[in-house]
Amino acid sequence: METEHAQPPLDLDGPQMRELAARVIDRLVEHIVQAPTLPAGGAFDEGVSERCLALPREAPELGVPPGPLLDQLFDEWLPASFLTTGPGYLAYVPGGGLFTSAIGHFLGAALNRFTGVWAPAPFLVELEGRTIGWLREWMGFPEGATGLFTPGGSTSNLTAIVTARELHLGPDLRAGVLYASEDVHHCVHKSARLAGIAADRVRGIAVDERRRLRPEALRAAIAEDRDAGLRPFLVVSSAGTTNTGAIDPLEEIGAIARSEGLWHHVDGAYGAFFRLVPELRPALAGIEGADSLTLDPHKGLFLPYGTGALLVRDEAHLRAVHEVTAGYLPELPAPEHYDPSRIGPELSRPYRGLPLWLAVQLHGAAAFREAIADKRALALRAAERLRAMPGVTLLDEPQLSIVPFRASDPGWSEEEGDRRTRALLEEVNARGRVHLSGATVAGRFVGRICVLCFRTDAERLDEGIEDLEAARGAMGG
Ligand SMILES: *Cc1c(COP(=O)(O)O)cnc(C)c1O
Repeated sequence: METEHAQPPLDLDGPQMRELAARVIDRLVEHIVQAPTLPAGGAFDEGVSERCLALPREAPELGVPPGPLLDQLFDEWLPASFLTTGPGYLAYVPGGGLFTSAIGHFLGAALNRFTGVWAPAPFLVELEGRTIGWLREWMGFPEGATGLFTPGGSTSNLTAIVTARELHLGPDLRAGVLYASEDVHHCVHKSARLAGIAADRVRGIAVDERRRLRPEALRAAIAEDRDAGLRPFLVVSSAGTTNTGAIDPLEEIGAIARSEGLWHHVDGAYGAFFRLVPELRPALAGIEGADSLTLDPHKGLFLPYGTGALLVRDEAHLRAVHEVTAGYLPELPAPEHYDPSRIGPELSRPYRGLPLWLAVQLHGAAAFREAIADKRALALRAAERLRAMPGVTLLDEPQLSIVPFRASDPGWSEEEGDRRTRALLEEVNARGRVHLSGATVAGRFVGRICVLCFRTDAERLDEGIEDLEAARGAMGG
């Protein structure tokens, strides 16, 4: 059959690989360089739903040339997406996606070495272990602690819950009870269910006026469950909730967990890397004492999506639930070597450590500390501006880098405040310089500015504040 383009063989030759890679890199760099000028929330036109449904369903029988495919990807589909790489992205929890780290993903994939176990690529696997060691040190975990890279915070939380469950409950799951604040990330509920802990065994503990878990309510809930013959086994603290950035009292919760014989897991997917900011270390005190800690380098270290991590104080507990061997696998290495298959659920997998290892090698650790301190400083700057803004109420000083607020007026009911806050966000987002998202907190709609993209600078932040002020002014009382 005739085709207009020479079908490449599966095994590209050198010039073919270079040509394809150069083409892709050209398009990509052009896009990334112009990202600051694009609408912060993407460009979603009316027809998105129909055009999505109209996407072709059949695989092409013959190969097609890359040019038109890249054109479609970059010109048609990509614009209708939140610009999560842009400086104006202040919604949900940003990260940005360091290019150096994206190169690490590509390098790891193109090399395609087997890094699930130690023997097939000892140096590569050991490097990943060293990278986990950096995280361990940055988080103040003791030297014997270990950890693994995961696809993200959700999987890290799941692995922690399964590990705690195995240690404390063994095969009898039904009586086991898990505790977390009412503002805990929803993936903890999902993970509990995946781990065999039914919803009626997950307690949402009350929070204080700054949305932090109340230790006395935790104590009371544990006592009540024990009286009912249940088996409390795990408390999950948040080191920065996604809603408002609230930090649970980690030290106090840790002490309760110790005295009650519970596993203490800290979900630091959003906030743990703020421990690298000296001024925030006291607020995060106790993180280093947890039994396990979820980290999300694809948030707080600005990596592209796909790099989460879990630190665990005692490797034996991870091994107890994950170490299995088989006759077709290479022999396990000596225990002092790093071997992710022995402590985590995956076998074949991407070279998960390389994107972080490469980025830290190229930029240096100091660059990450400085950038995260800068995001904290920008959040404080935003809070200061909002405090002075008429018709807007700052709900709390930022505990980390999320600034929660509402549109307000003495004449409005709470419901009117919800409606107006939503409208305010929509209006700011329509201006396209920044993109914000809200959250329902204790039944009320809350606007939030979350500063965590490495590209966000004071100039862009001030533009966002300007837009907020103008939109609120236009709204009236
Ligand atoms: C983002 C987030 C998660 C989930 O992490 P993913 O990487 O999206 O899977 C869990 N907990 C908190 C607090 C988060 O902010």
